Order: sequence, then C-alpha cells, then structure tokens
Amino acid sequence: MTEDSSADMDFSGALQRLGKLDPIEAVAKAKEQLETLDSVTVNIAVTGETGAGKSAFVNAFRGLDDDDENSAPTGITETTMEVTMYTHPTKSNVRLWDLPGIGMPNLNANKYLKEVKFETYDLFIIISSERFKENDIFLAKEIKKKQKCFYFVRTKIDNDIHSAAKNKNFNEQQVLCAIREDCQRNLKDVGNPKVFLISSFDLGKYDFQNLVDTLELDLSEHKRFALVQSLPVCSLAMLEKKKESIEKFIWLAALASGFATYIPVPFVSVAFDKAVLVTFLISCHYTLGLNENSLIKLSERVNKPVSQLKSAIKSPFALAVANILGVPTCTSKAKPLKSLDELLDSKRLVEGLHDAAAAFKTAYTALSGGLNEMIDDMKEVLHVAGLQ
Ligand code: GDP
Repeated sequence: MTEDSSADMDFSGALQRLGKLDPIEAVAKAKEQLETLDSVTVNIAVTGETGAGKSAFVNAFRGLDDDDENSAPTGITETTMEVTMYTHPTKSNVRLWDLPGIGMPNLNANKYLKEVKFETYDLFIIISSERFKENDIFLAKEIKKKQKCFYFVRTKIDNDIHSAAKNKNFNEQQVLCAIREDCQRNLKDVGNPKVFLISSFDLGKYDFQNLVDTLELDLSEHKRFALVQSLPVCSLAMLEKKKESIEKFIWLAALASGFATYIPVPFVSVAFDKAVLVTFLISCHYTLGLNENSLIKLSERVNKPVSQLKSAIKSPFALAVANILGVPTCTSKAKPLKSLDELLDSKRLVEGLHDAAAAFKTAYTALSGGLNEMIDDMKEVLHVAGLQ
C-alpha cells in the first residue's frame, strides 16, 4: 500500500490502491490494513549519560509529566544496566526504551549494544545536556555500523536560554546557534550529524518538530503513522502534521466500513459497518488531543483551567465523540446536539445507496467532515491555550 497524496480519492482509486479489483475482497483487505496500522510497533531507544535528561524526554514524548503515574522516574542516580520499556498511554504499540548510558565501567560499545538488544529498536536517540562525550560518539559509530539510525538530541535548552537571558546583549537565536555549532564541532567524527536542540519541558519550542520530521523519514509508512499519532499536540505545527497523517488513511476506513455494502445483488440497499466509522473518529479524537487526559495535561502546562480549554470545543462531532467516551464536555450544561450515530446518519448513511462507489464517497465525506470539525476545534483549543 502506498500513501494517498491527495486529500480526495474515489472508489476505483481506493480499489486500485489495494491492488484488488473485487470490492468484497478489497473491503476485507482494507479492514486487515486498518488493523495492521493499529498494531505495528515502533521501538525507540533513548540513551545518554545519567542525568542527561533521558527519562524526562521519554515522559515528554509520551505526553506525560515527570510526576505522572507510569512516568519514567527522573533525577535518579543510575547504578544498573537495566533497560526499561515505557509504552505510550493511549498507543501501546509505540514504545520508548530508556537505556542506561554507555559510560559504565567495563563496557564497550559492542558489548553494550548486545546487552541492550540493539536489534529490538527502530532507531536510537542519543541525549546529552552538554557537549556530546566520547562515549556518545563511539556508540553512534557502532550503531551506524549495524545499519541502524541514530539522532543526537541536545536537551535542557530552556536552562541555557534562561541563563543566557541574564546577559545584556542576549539574542536567543545567537545562543541556539552557538550551542548547535559547539555540539556539531565535536561530532565531526560521526560525519557531522544534525543536532536537535530541545527542552523536554516545552516540546512546542526549539527543534522538537524538526526532530519528528527527521525521525519519520527513516520509518516505514505504518510506523510513521503510529509515531505521529502518538505524539502530544504541543503546537499548531504538530496538529497540522497529525491532520496530514490521518488524511492519508481516510480512504482505508471508508472502504473498510463497506463490508455489508457491496452485496452484488441489484437494488439491495447499502448498509455501512458503522462501527468502523465510529472507531476511526474516536481514534482521531484521541490523536488530536481532544480527550480528557490530554486536555488536562495541556491545561497544566499552560496554566489555564481545563474548563476554559474545553469551552473551545463546539463541533457536533467532537462533542458527540466526547459523549460516547463519557467525558463531560464543558462547564456549561450544553449537551451534544446529536449523537455520533445521528450525525453519521445525517450524512445519508442510511438512505440505502445502491452503488458501492457512492457509498464509499458518502463514508469518505462523513469521515473527512468529522475530522475537519475536530481539527478546527483543536486549533481553537490551542488558541485559547496561547499556543497559536
Ligand atoms: P536521566 O538520568 O538521563 O534519565 O535524566 P533525567 O530525565 O532524570 O533528568 C535529570 C534532571 O534533569 C532532572 O532533574 C530533570 O527534571 C532535569 N531535566 C531533564 N530534562 C530537562 C529539560 O529539558 N529542561 C530542564 N530545565 N531540566 C531537565
């Protein structure tokens, strides 16, 4: 399967995409692919010296604070070779592995990579809060030899900016440039790799988005989708990235929803597998950060009441999904105008279409409409949060 580059696709395009011309077979295949999309695993190893900020990065990447339940413990002095796996709170197929730093006595890079089972990981992130050390460089070379990808992340940038801001002629861009150059200077040996400057306390700033864009390039299509879906919505740019990523698969859900649709008997009414549509929209709701937990996290981060953020959520689709999930929508007693079932029905899903192509188009339009409404709501939430 290849990605859809255009937002719209017709029925024959969808069938061709799956390489199947028989509609019934194509629907079964679409369902199978949707399941694969949900179950593909992404394993990201995070390594670096003790205290570099690995655990804080792992937590931020999963949209958690350091003091949340299930977060990786931070500020702990390391004494063991333990590798710890942390799954994403809502996308358990995305896993981050907190690896101990290589700078431990009696270990060489080869032995280290063997002990941490390097073959498990799709990619490695090497973290430092200062210049990268000899060990980091050595490790990167060994990872490269084993034909895996690695990325250098220079973290705690907020600290650097905070300290530099005390200087009279402070200029943030100049400070960032100097840090980047300094890191790159001592990474010449590894072929001048890009260094991403980040703050785990504010992923919306500095190079986090750039890091994600780069990680994506080295992942397969399904893994890329899983990664992007799992990331916290820390900025408008991230929201746009998620939108793009979901749009590429609407056709698959629209096709998969047609299991009862394509009965090859003339004049038999078309029936949709509404569960596929509902599941897809619920998944979008989570991915876009409209779920209760994500809104609470965002409210804590920007220090605004969650009710204020929720008051920006007004679209019938977002309210209907929240209602299904049993989430109180906002402080006013506003009830969703319509249930998700009613909303989908209002998109003419129950009208008894007799034509598979028209049915596909109807489901496609309903899903894109729902997605767009939820995206607009999330933009408004970011605006209220002061992040847009
Ligand atoms: P680890 O030993 O590599 O897992 O390091 P931790 O994640 O435990 O971080 C060590 C300390 O640095 C903790 O007190 C963290 O709160 C702090 N820290 C980690 N990342 C950042 C960051 O991006 N900014 C700031 N200001 N502090 C950070």
